[in-house]
Amino acid sequence: MIKAQRYAVIGHPVAHSKSPQIHKLFAKQIGGEIEYEAIDVKKDKLEECIKVFLEHGGRGLNITLPHKQNVLVYLDQVSTRAKIAGAVNTITKADNGKLMGDNTDGVGLITDLKHNLGVKIKGSTILILGAGGAARGILSPLFEESPKEMAIANRTISKAEKIMIDFKKQGNLKVYEFEQLKEKTFDIIINATSVGIKENSAPFPNEIIRPGAVCYDLSYSLTDTPFISWAKNLGCKNTYSGLGMLIEQAAESFMLWHGVRPNTKNILSKLS
Ligand code: NAP
Repeated sequence: MIKAQRYAVIGHPVAHSKSPQIHKLFAKQIGGEIEYEAIDVKKDKLEECIKVFLEHGGRGLNITLPHKQNVLVYLDQVSTRAKIAGAVNTITKADNGKLMGDNTDGVGLITDLKHNLGVKIKGSTILILGAGGAARGILSPLFEESPKEMAIANRTISKAEKIMIDFKKQGNLKVYEFEQLKEKTFDIIINATSVGIKENSAPFPNEIIRPGAVCYDLSYSLTDTPFISWAKNLGCKNTYSGLGMLIEQAAESFMLWHGVRPNTKNILSKLS
C-alpha cells in the first residue's frame, strides 16, 4: 500500500496531460490511492510553484514542456541520464528534503519502440524532428541501441547544432534544416516537436515519408495527432503516437517514487 502523498505534472500548457489518469491507475494496481494533479505554470512562476507544492505535502513532480531544461537550476542532485540529456522529467523530494532530478523519457521511448511495438533500432537510420527537452531526453538511450545513423532537424537550427555538440560523446549526429530533408530517407522518424499540439499542419517536407518507414510522434492523443495524420496521408503504414512512451516513462517515474514498477500492459485501453 502506498502512502497518501501529493504528486503532480507541471507544464504549460498541461490540461491535455494524461499523466494524472495514468498514475492513479498505477496506484490502484498496488492497492493505493494518490493525489496527482496537473499544474499549469509559466516560466516566471516555476520556482515558486515547485517550492510551494513540495512544502505542502508534495513528494514528486513530473515536468513537461516547456520546463524540462528550466527546472535544472532548482535541483540539489541530478541523475547521470538527466545530466547527459540536460533535461529533467521527474523530480523526487527525498526524505532529507533534497530535490533529485531524473529523466525517464528515453527509457520510456525505448521500451515502447522495442518491447511493445517490436521496432528494430539496431542498424537503422533515425531522424529526430525537434531539439527541445524531449529530443534531449531520448538521444542518449537511442545511441545506446547502436543505430546505423542518427540525424536531427529543427526549426531553430542553432538549437540542433548545440545538441550535436552536447552529445558528441554519445555518438555522431547529423544536423539538417527541414528543407534539406527533401533529399533524405530514414527508417525511423521521431517527431519530438510540439507542433502537434500547437498547430494543425506539419512543417516538414513530404519527401521524408515513405511507406516502410516507422513514424513515431512523441505527442499523443487518443485519435490521430496532426503528425500521424500527415504521415498516414503520405502512405506511411507504421505510425505510432507517444501514448505508449507516456505510459512507460510514467511507470519509471512511479518506480522512482514508490519502489514498484507497475504493469503497463492494459493501461492504454483504460485511458479516456
Ligand atoms: P520543448 O522543449 O518546448 O521543444 C519544442 C520543440 O518543438 C522545439 O524543437 C521547437 O522548435 C519545436 N516547435 C514548436 N513549434 C514548432 C513549429 N510550429 N514548427 C516547427 N517546430 C516547432 O518541448 P519538449 O518538452 O521537447 O516536448 C516536445 C513534444 O514531445 C511535446 O508535444 C510533448 O508533449 C512531447 N513529449 C511526449 C512525451 C511522451 O511521453 N510521449 C515525453 C516528452 C515529450 P524551436 O527550437 O525552433 O522552437
